[in-house]
Amino acid sequence: MEQKNQNTIIGHQQIVEQLRRTVASGRIAGAYLFVGPAGVGKETVATYFARLIFCLQHKQSPEGLDEEQSASLPSVCGTCLACRKVDSGNHPDLQFIRPAGSLVKIGQIRDVQKQIIYEPLEGSRKVYILTDAERMNLEAENCLLKTLEEPPASSVLILLTSNIEALLPTTRSRCQILQFYPMQTEELAEVLMKRFPIDAEAAATAAISAGGVVGKALTQLEKGNRLASEVPEILKETDLLAAFRLAEQFKNNPESLAELVTWYRDLLFLQQEAPSELMTHIHALEELRTIVPRYSRLRIQQAIQTVFHTKSLIDNTNTNATLALEVMCLKLLKIDSYRG
Ligand SMILES: [Zn+2]
Repeated sequence: MEQKNQNTIIGHQQIVEQLRRTVASGRIAGAYLFVGPAGVGKETVATYFARLIFCLQHKQSPEGLDEEQSASLPSVCGTCLACRKVDSGNHPDLQFIRPAGSLVKIGQIRDVQKQIIYEPLEGSRKVYILTDAERMNLEAENCLLKTLEEPPASSVLILLTSNIEALLPTTRSRCQILQFYPMQTEELAEVLMKRFPIDAEAAATAAISAGGVVGKALTQLEKGNRLASEVPEILKETDLLAAFRLAEQFKNNPESLAELVTWYRDLLFLQQEAPSELMTHIHALEELRTIVPRYSRLRIQQAIQTVFHTKSLIDNTNTNATLALEVMCLKLLKIDSYRG
């Protein structure tokens, strides 16, 4: 199990070891600032740090630490109650603060300040991870400074940022800064080859185009995998009875609904003879060309609206999903059958 959790961090071995030493020594700072490009792994490492702090396996960490002890640095067990709570996002002493909309607002910082004064509920400390710290407005950042000046001994604030320049010098100076760097592209390519069914050349290309940033490379390849999928049946189907079968398929795979919109959008692009770079499913260009004559512009626009409307009904109301999807498929196919 430990192996599995360790593996979720790709690269950053020195930082991970540093954090393990910190936890072993018990000298955990009140505030950290993790700096590095988006997707580099700051949040993964911050969450690992929280796990290290909470894991019940090494609650009694030694006070001092010397060279010989480094081999026996604490790691996360991955199986104790604390580890499992972090994994499932349910640890009461771990909180993420993410931008609400485009900004981290002062109200969010004030909420933290109200809670941070209380003792942790289960762990030895409370851990607050502020993602996208550069998105605090000045008001919020000034407010946070009060906590950074005197962080309660039982808390750890971890600020993550891809743009340290956007933070006030006073914020920076009150945090222990850890710099995250992209991986060597050769090293990243090796990781990618283990995770995806790709050859060395494709892995190298992905690693280089992501600039060694692991999150970027993974997103690209995962997207690429998805894009290898076939043209959805509902675009090609003309039999109204197929509606019920297709509704069932959408119900079993809710994500395909969002993806369906990208297919209709491609039809729209094709119809308007937009540059093919705009298309999401460029690999299916030829097949889409055979389908597009069956669609008017209005029909495609209506289809997109219908899908969005259905998705919103399912996500935001307690409507019967099966029924909503059947109605959607009937509409999409009926529109198709007008041929106008
Ligand atoms: Zn554990």
